[in-house]
Amino acid sequence: MKKGMVITIDGPAGAGKSTVSKLLASRLSFVCLDTGALYRAAAYQLKREGWNGAIEDIADPGRALKVSLKHDEGRVRVMVDGEEVSEKIRTEEIGLLASRISAVPKIREKLLPVQREMAEFGGVVAEGRDMGTVVFPDADVKFFLDASAEERAKRRYMEMTAKGEQVNRTDIKNDLLLRDRQDRERPIAPLVIPAGAVVVDSSNLSIPQVIDFMISVIERACPLR
Ligand code: C5P
Repeated sequence: MKKGMVITIDGPAGAGKSTVSKLLASRLSFVCLDTGALYRAAAYQLKREGWNGAIEDIADPGRALKVSLKHDEGRVRVMVDGEEVSEKIRTEEIGLLASRISAVPKIREKLLPVQREMAEFGGVVAEGRDMGTVVFPDADVKFFLDASAEERAKRRYMEMTAKGEQVNRTDIKNDLLLRDRQDRERPIAPLVIPAGAVVVDSSNLSIPQVIDFMISVIERACPLR
C-alpha cells in the first residue's frame, strides 16, 4: 500500500464515519483525520468564551481559533487552547452548534490549512463533510458513507445510552435530521457526494463488512502497491 495515499470518507451525521475511518486507518497503518472534531472543538471554544450566537461576532478576524488535533501514540487528542476536550465535544449540543458555525466561511477558511497540514505526507484516512470535494479534491480514493435516518438515529441512541446518557430517541433523530439539513443546504462546502466517490450504504452492513468492502475498493484502485 502506497504510504502517501489520501483516502476520504464523507457522509451525514451518524453514518459510522468515525468508527469506520479509525478502523480503516488502523488496517492500513494510516493516520485517521477526524475533521468533525475540529468543528466541534471550535464550537466548544466559542461556547466556553461565552459566544452570544451572533454570526458577525464569529466572523471577527480578531477571534483566533485555538483548536488542534494531537496524534499521540496511536490516539488522537482534540485540544482547545492546551486543554484536552476529546470527550467533552461529543454531545448533541456541541454537534448542533458545530453544524451551525461550520456554515460560516471564516470558520471554514481558518480550519482548511489545519486539515491539509495534517495530511501533508499522506497515509491518511480523512473523514468529514467536504473531504472529497473541498479539502482533498485529488484524494486517491473517495467514499461516501451513508445509512438511513432511522438506522443512524438508532446507532447514535445506542452509543449515547452506552455512555450512560439520558437521551430520547425521537430527539436524537430530529437533531440528526436538522443537522443533515443544515449541512446539505449551506452554500459553502455543502454535504454532497463527491465526484468519483464510491457510495457505501451501511444500513444493512456490519462494520467489518464496510471495512472489507472499502479495502477491496482501495486495492482495486491502487493495485500495484
Ligand atoms: O462529524 P461530526 O458529527 O463530528 O461533525 C460535526 C459537525 O461539523 C457536522 O454536522 C458538520 O456541520 C461539521 N463538519 C463540517 N465539515 C467537516 C466535518 C464536520 O462542516 N469536514
